[in-house]
Amino acid sequence: MRKAFIAGNWKMNMGPKETATFLRKLAELKPNASGKVDAAICPPTISLPAASSLQDGLNVAIGAQNVHYEENGAFTGEVSTSMLKEVGCKYSILGHSERRQFFGETDDIINRKVSKCLADGITPIVCVGELLDERKEGAHFDVVKLQLSDSLKNLTAKQVDNLVIAYEPVWAIGTGETASPEQAQEMHAFIRKELVGLFNDGVAQKIRILYGGSMKPANAEELLRKVDVDGGLIGGASLKPDSFTELLTIAEGVTQ
Ligand code: PEP
Repeated sequence: MRKAFIAGNWKMNMGPKETATFLRKLAELKPNASGKVDAAICPPTISLPAASSLQDGLNVAIGAQNVHYEENGAFTGEVSTSMLKEVGCKYSILGHSERRQFFGETDDIINRKVSKCLADGITPIVCVGELLDERKEGAHFDVVKLQLSDSLKNLTAKQVDNLVIAYEPVWAIGTGETASPEQAQEMHAFIRKELVGLFNDGVAQKIRILYGGSMKPANAEELLRKVDVDGGLIGGASLKPDSFTELLTIAEGVTQ
């Protein structure tokens, strides 16, 4: 059975002080005390040291929102996997639709980042998902299929064993509109089938596929109850300790 995974994508919110306040509050609320759920927060790069200095005993790991595919050099504004590891990062989100849309990230760039993370022991959370027009045209499966094959190309089954995929329909991100549990399940099952073809059945059954797109305490349970929905990548609702705690409690309940 795949362990549920709840990850917060804080985007460009929460500086070091707010991050520290969030984690201190989480220490009071003590969600996920059982450790039954894998949990992570992904703050902005500048807040990573504050987050990792306060994560002890919380069963909440730290992730980045992006990383470069080179080790070091003339890449102004970028950070490397070893820098992320130095500040306690376990995960990195890769290929989020906002990075594709606003920073020109292609599947090829994402593929290089995935390879670098896997080589260096950072677990990638690889985001895929279609635009609204693509869904309206009925092209959503083709779009996601291509994103998967291109961003995971030249990788072996052994390498991707531990990888995490996030299905994030772009029309549901930050819009308040959520994919229905049936739409999410349909796409997650499709992704798992693609993973069988790209790698093998064992790996496809192991890889966790998170849903992302306006997931919140009010709709999390029905999404998480779907057999191929292994957790959530959550933006807005992960920014408040109370709602993040609620999400973890819901995931814990679904796991029972
Ligand atoms: C996200 O940015 O990954 C996301 C899912 O955002 P939201 O939950 O706010 O839609």
